[in-house]
Amino acid sequence: MNPMPQDKTSEQLRREWVEHPHFKYRGCAPDPDDPLRMAGDPSLHIGAHHGPDAFAPEGQRERRVREERAIEVCLGCPVMVACDRYASSVTPDGRLAEPEGVWGGRRSLERHKALIAARVAVTAAPDRVFQTVQKQAVLAALAQCWEPFEVAAVAGMDVRTANWQRSQLVRLLGLPKSVSRMRLLAVARERGLLAGVRVVPDDGTVPAVAPPTRLPPVEAPAAVVLPLRRPRRSHTAVMPGQLSFESLFPSSLGAAA
Ligand code: SF4
Repeated sequence: MNPMPQDKTSEQLRREWVEHPHFKYRGCAPDPDDPLRMAGDPSLHIGAHHGPDAFAPEGQRERRVREERAIEVCLGCPVMVACDRYASSVTPDGRLAEPEGVWGGRRSLERHKALIAARVAVTAAPDRVFQTVQKQAVLAALAQCWEPFEVAAVAGMDVRTANWQRSQLVRLLGLPKSVSRMRLLAVARERGLLAGVRVVPDDGTVPAVAPPTRLPPVEAPAAVVLPLRRPRRSHTAVMPGQLSFESLFPSSLGAAA
């Protein structure tokens, strides 16, 4: 099942799933006789769809067996379709509503692959927009390295242009701004944009869009001390024996100053 396009929000799809008249009969509900076991298969622990936590590592083989048994439970579940629609839906920030575990009869990896395939299929940008020299250079550079200055150097352009092209590639491939470099490269490869290019993997946390360049802090200019303004002197000539203007109206002089 294709997770896109989606006519309802993830939240609406979740409500449809939990408000389904058969929700309480779902396979992964707790067994009434033993809440730590699964109603759809009482020989399975209630957490079988999601696996052990980070403190209990799981081997590849155990994981595969556990997931297959969880999928068996899903296949007999009366709300499987609604569950899959919700779990495979896309949140406003471009992620899967349920990125981990078995949901609606599908593994996490299957849902992610379906999401990538759907994105590639609906991306409006035609192939030719990726065929510019700069985009191809940045993509090939990004496959080798990820530090902004290094990517720019390998791509043969300035950092600003390379960063701009990185964000353009993310936008044109229909990916969220927060997408990782590895995900961008996976989608680009699906799209046929990385044929014959070897990707140097990172640990999965490197962003595809370059982080903002940090400029050295600008020192505040020293405070300018303005000279005190002195009251203007009257240009009126005072004749001997004559009262001056200031002696007659001292308050007007102070207000003007
Ligand atoms: S489809 Fe699977 S994960 Fe979804 S409610 Fe049913 S048993 Fe649980």
